[in-house]
Amino acid sequence: MAHFIILLGPPGAGKGTQAERIIKKLGIVHISSGNLFRENLEKETDLGRLAKSYMDKGELVPDNVTIAMVRERLTKLDCQTGALLDGFPRTPAQAKALDKILAEKNESILCVPYIKVPEDLSVERLSGRWTCREAGHVYHEKYNPPKEKGICDIDGSPLYQRDDDKRRTVEQRIKVYSQQTAPLIDYYDKNGLLRTIDGTKEIDEITESILKEIT
Ligand code: ADP
Ligand code: AMP
Repeated sequence: MAHFIILLGPPGAGKGTQAERIIKKLGIVHISSGNLFRENLEKETDLGRLAKSYMDKGELVPDNVTIAMVRERLTKLDCQTGALLDGFPRTPAQAKALDKILAEKNESILCVPYIKVPEDLSVERLSGRWTCREAGHVYHEKYNPPKEKGICDIDGSPLYQRDDDKRRTVEQRIKVYSQQTAPLIDYYDKNGLLRTIDGTKEIDEITESILKEIT
């Protein structure tokens, strides 16, 4: 059976950081809806332009557009053994759509590690985040610095600070998370898939906790 796992948690919880580590252990692909939107933005597609208008405000891209994009990504051959979803689903409608997409493939969600962090930590982590231009690898200027300042350890591409990591947008993103995404905690708890992980710990310790829940 394939492994479909969802990483849930507020912006800055460490979903992308953990995803990079976990996919190496499990040999599945990392699907980040935020990265998919940013790739479209980079290529200047219509989808990229549409997504940008929401991302810049810290709002969610509409469900129909987001679901269609992820549905398409999940049809790719590299998802046959599963996928680690990061940043999707973010609304109850997206969660229901994902259940349906997986059911059509005769698959289901294995579990949902929920990386729990308080709001002040989310803000601190996002304000020090540096992201790689090439593939979205993430660093933190204090907690997880690259070997060479401004350069990605993995692919040597330049690091930049995301526009939506600015203070005012971060506050809006956290508000949107509380209103639209936090209800998913209950959704996945009710169907027995939720695994709450203490996200205040160090990166390696969190990876261990998540892997323990999965394997
Ligand atoms: P998300 O994908 O949930 O938005 P990221 O993985 O991009 O979050 O992490 C946000 C920032 O916090 C990054 O700068 C990352 O290096 C840093 N970070 C992630 N996990 C931890 C941790 N456990 N302790 C300290 N900093 C962390
Ligand atoms: P992220 O990279 O996960 O922090 O996402 C960055 C931004 O992309 C979000 O603030 C949203 O504007 C948009 N986005 C990413 N994933 C989704 C999603 N599942 N649904 C709607 N919008 C999303």
